Amino acid sequence: MASLKSQIQANLTQIRQNIAAACSRCGRDPASVTVVAVTKSATVDAVKCAVDQGLLDLGESRVQQLIDRSQEVAQYVQRRKLPPVRWHMIGHLQRNKVKAVLETASIIHSVDTLRLAEDINARAEAAGTVAEILIQVNCSAEPQKYGVAVGAASHLCSLVSSLRNIRPVGLMTMAPLAKDPQAARPAFTRLRELFEEMRHDGVGGEAFRHLSMGMSQDYVVAIEEGATLVRIGRAIFG
Ligand SMILES: *Cc1c(COP(=O)(O)O)cnc(C)c1O
Repeated sequence: MASLKSQIQANLTQIRQNIAAACSRCGRDPASVTVVAVTKSATVDAVKCAVDQGLLDLGESRVQQLIDRSQEVAQYVQRRKLPPVRWHMIGHLQRNKVKAVLETASIIHSVDTLRLAEDINARAEAAGTVAEILIQVNCSAEPQKYGVAVGAASHLCSLVSSLRNIRPVGLMTMAPLAKDPQAARPAFTRLRELFEEMRHDGVGGEAFRHLSMGMSQDYVVAIEEGATLVRIGRAIFG
């Protein structure tokens, strides 16, 4: 456990330095960037170490793992009297899993159809809550990828905004996988431009403020392009 702890601590120190450097290059406040620690390939002990290090935003891409992890971490946090964590659902969401996810996650990054948004809205209404979501955009137009097309994102977001129990708070994208982090830049630039257009048009209103983009491989480039939520797994947990 001790070496696990020091490994995660060292990884985090490096990541925080990289974030600070990227922010100073482009005149951003490092506090405007939140690290979402993606726990899908980490052990529960490693996740607990990350929480001890102050990582309170955690991400999962699979529903069952989201539920299992969140219960274990909640018990740990309570025992240690740590502040509560927020879970981010970052993976593709099937409509029959919406209820379980809403009971667990604070924010869903992967809304890409009106039908899914309507299901989330109905479940949130039944629970007496408002669900915060991001619209996932397929910026690289890869056919195998989830996400709404760039040209359809603003319309989808307007429709979602008209529902009462779901609130779009920004956009999310996944860049094409590549060895060179710079290869991700065009997708991130496209998402930022789309975000700026939508804000300019008033889509989503005041609450519309997040750009979820960048992973272990390319989070520095994403921050240079305006990311407010970076989803980092391997660079933290190895
Ligand atoms: C796994 C995953 C990540 C994190 O990937 P790493 O390369 O481990 O940083 C980010 N976003 C999504 C949607 C993922 O599924």
